[in-house]
Amino acid sequence: MNLTDLSLKGERALIRVDFNVPLNEAREVTDDTRIRAALPTIQHVLAEGGSVVLMSHLGRPKGTDERYSLKHILPRLEALLGQSVKFASNCVEDVALDVTQSLKPGEIALLENLRFHPEEKAGDEFFAGQLAENGTVYINDAFGTAHRAHASTAVIAKFFPEDKAFGLLLAKEIDALEKVLAHPQAPLTAIIGGAKVSSKLGIIEHLIGRVDRLIVGGGMAYTFVQAQGGKIGDSLVESEMHAQALAILEKAQTTGTELLLPHDTLIADQFAADAATDVVTTENIPDGWMGLDIGPETTQRFVEAVLSSKTVLWNGPMGVFEMDAFAKGTNAVAEALAKATSEDDAFTLIGGGDSVAAINKAGLAERVSYVSTGGGAMLEYLEGKELPGIAAIRS
Ligand code: AMP
Repeated sequence: MNLTDLSLKGERALIRVDFNVPLNEAREVTDDTRIRAALPTIQHVLAEGGSVVLMSHLGRPKGTDERYSLKHILPRLEALLGQSVKFASNCVEDVALDVTQSLKPGEIALLENLRFHPEEKAGDEFFAGQLAENGTVYINDAFGTAHRAHASTAVIAKFFPEDKAFGLLLAKEIDALEKVLAHPQAPLTAIIGGAKVSSKLGIIEHLIGRVDRLIVGGGMAYTFVQAQGGKIGDSLVESEMHAQALAILEKAQTTGTELLLPHDTLIADQFAADAATDVVTTENIPDGWMGLDIGPETTQRFVEAVLSSKTVLWNGPMGVFEMDAFAKGTNAVAEALAKATSEDDAFTLIGGGDSVAAINKAGLAERVSYVSTGGGAMLEYLEGKELPGIAAIRS
C-alpha cells in the first residue's frame, strides 16, 4: 500500500515516525536527521487536506520518565515544519483523544513517548486499539523499528484493514533494499565488514548464492584466515566460529559466489593511533601484532571489484576507521562507491551504523545512491527475514 493510494482529504493520519533522536544534557536535539527524514510524509498528508498525529518512542524509559518526554523535540519539530504542533502528554486515553479528535485539516499533533507504556513493546492489542482511536488512517514511516512487533509498529495495523500505508521514507527504504535483494543489476557485490562474524553470519549466509561477489573485510576476516590455518597474531578473532567460516567458504564455491578475503593487512603493535605499523600477508601476522586495516593490495582489489559492479551493498568498515591511521581501506571503499555511483551509474546502498558513520566522516553520503537509516531493521531485511512492521501493512 502506497501513501499516494490513500485518500487523505479530511482524514486524521496517525503516523508512526522514528523520532528517537539524540539529546544532550539540556535535553536539546543534537542531530535532527530523523525528524527531517519524516517531513515529506507529514507534508504530503497536509497538502492532501488531512491532519497529522505523530507517534514515536524516544530512548529506553522504564515507565514515565520526564527525561525521555517527546516534548523535548517539539521546538525543533515546529521549527522544521514552520508551524505549531499540539502536544498530548499521554499517547492514549482522554488526554490524547482531546487533542487528536479535534484536529482540523492542516493541523499537527505529537503524542507523548509510546514507551512510557510497557504495552507498546509487549505488542499489547488493547493498547494498540487505544492508540488507533487517535487516527482515521494509519501510516508507518519508521523503518528503524520495522523489525519489532510492537503495538504502534505492527499490531495497530489490524485496526485499519483498508486505510493503512507505508510512509514515503519507509517506502524508499524498501525500494532501495529490493533493488539489491530482489532485482539487482549484475554484477552485484556485497561488502561486509566490522568486528564480528557472529553478528553478520545471518546476512552472509543469506547473500551467498545471491550476490556475484562477496567481499569480507574488517576484524571478522581474521576468523576466516585462522580457520584456514593462517597465523593472525593478536588480531580480533572468534575461534568458536571456525566451522561456520569454513562452511561459508564452501558454500561460496558451490553456489558460484566469488568470495574475496584480504590478501594483505596493515598491522600494528598495539591498539592505538600512534602504534608502530607494517604491512604483511594476512596469514602471516606475527605474535604481538594485530591487523587493524586491509592492506594496500587488498584495498586496490576491493576498489576494482566495486568499480566493476552495477549494484553494491556495503555494511561494516574495513578496519578500525575511528583512528585515521587505520581508516585508509574504509575510506577507499567509500570513495569507490561514490565513483561507481557517479561514473558507472551503479546503484550503491550503505547501511549499518558504522558504515554510515564512515561514509559521513568521509563526506560522501550525498554521492552514493542510498544510505539506510535503520541499523537493526536493515540487517534483518538483509538476512531475508520478514519484518513485522512491513508485513502488517502488506497483509
Ligand atoms: P560492527 O559493529 O560489527 O559493524 O563493527 C564495527 C567496528 O568494528 C568498528 O568500531 C571498527 O573499529 C571495528 N573493526 C573493524 N575492523 C577491525 C579490526 N581489524 N580489528 C578490530 N576492530 C575492527
